[in-house]
Amino acid sequence: MSHHHSIRNLLNIKDKNITFDENFCSTETIKKVKAKVFHGTLTYQPKACYACGHVFDDQIIKHGFKTSLIKMPSISGFHTYLKLRKQRYFCKHCHSTFTLKTSVVAKNCCISNNTKVSIALNAKDKISEKDIAMKHNVSHATVSRVIDSFYSYYQPNVHYLPQHLCFDEFKSLLERCPLFSSTLKRGRWWISWRTEDYILKEYFLRYSKKARDSVKNDCHRYVQPLYFLNPRSFPDKFHILQLFSRALNKTRINVMNRDKKNYNKLKKYWKLLLKDQTKLDYKNYTYHRCFKKHMCEVEILHYLIDLDSELKASYELYLYVRHCIKTKDFELLKKTLENKQNIVSSYMKTAIKTINKYINYVENTLKYDYNNGILEGIHNKIKVIKRISFGYRSFYHFRNRIFITQNLAKIKTA
Ligand SMILES: [Zn+2]
Repeated sequence: MSHHHSIRNLLNIKDKNITFDENFCSTETIKKVKAKVFHGTLTYQPKACYACGHVFDDQIIKHGFKTSLIKMPSISGFHTYLKLRKQRYFCKHCHSTFTLKTSVVAKNCCISNNTKVSIALNAKDKISEKDIAMKHNVSHATVSRVIDSFYSYYQPNVHYLPQHLCFDEFKSLLERCPLFSSTLKRGRWWISWRTEDYILKEYFLRYSKKARDSVKNDCHRYVQPLYFLNPRSFPDKFHILQLFSRALNKTRINVMNRDKKNYNKLKKYWKLLLKDQTKLDYKNYTYHRCFKKHMCEVEILHYLIDLDSELKASYELYLYVRHCIKTKDFELLKKTLENKQNIVSSYMKTAIKTINKYINYVENTLKYDYNNGILEGIHNKIKVIKRISFGYRSFYHFRNRIFITQNLAKIKTA
């Protein structure tokens, strides 16, 4: 096997018309960086003149070489280039010259197709576009352009909506609030942007009426019956509990600020108040500096909630809510909320008010086994992408990147 074949194999070049010099690789300094440079020659007999289309004959003659420096995917951590001498021809029929084409690189371009594919595949990872650019020794603009040109994006079918939808929103670019929806089982989802009102009116009205009528459940309280015939909304369990845990936390902070003597204790052991009661430790006694004695978790907890009657009532309410959500007991939840209304802190009262406003939806949540979990997971990933990129200037690029990382965009096959 010739060394041409081996080097072509190493650089993953499919074009067999490229041959390599005897000293095919050298180390050179390009743009102040040491790089590996491969020296190759492209020559073959074209079928016809590129300019006039005249079939190859002795009137088309060789006319020197044109050397171009092509960026290849890096090897052993070095930037790698291919210095390719391309054969030029002169056509006596039309008096024009032309350079031979190759599959390694596009016309008038110095970045090899292999590098572009590598960039496009790299876009699937959780890495910022700028880092991809650094890795491949190209500019940031090139990365954006390559990503846009390589992927074809998912276009929703306006005549179909799944039975179950998930909703969530996040903030990006000051005013725009993107919204996501998804089926629970199939994992198909959509993304749109602009403010919430815009989405609900414009986005869903794009779908045919038949498609909108097929929606049975949605995991969000914002969606109005205006767009769907019979929606059954579910606020997420996690968010209901979060409402109460935040209220409890605020109550604790309030007590903490009033009671200077126990400030440190209330501050240090804040987690105990939010912990699941069954997971509290009542066996192991360890030394606690704040109390200057050995204590277990349950003892500390009782000490804290006995400091204030409102805090105690709020804590008990929180435990009830937690229990009701866990056991899906809606009647008990409703009863507890009514009974405890007067003795809890003002923060808890606000939480109760909020829950009462959406009490029908809360009933749905406890009655049926649907949740927003899938979407919250995707959401987290999006936030990671956003953070490692230090934000996106263009929402269009951001959305496309999300599609790529979620495998919702396909690489175009040429
Ligand atoms: Zn010609």
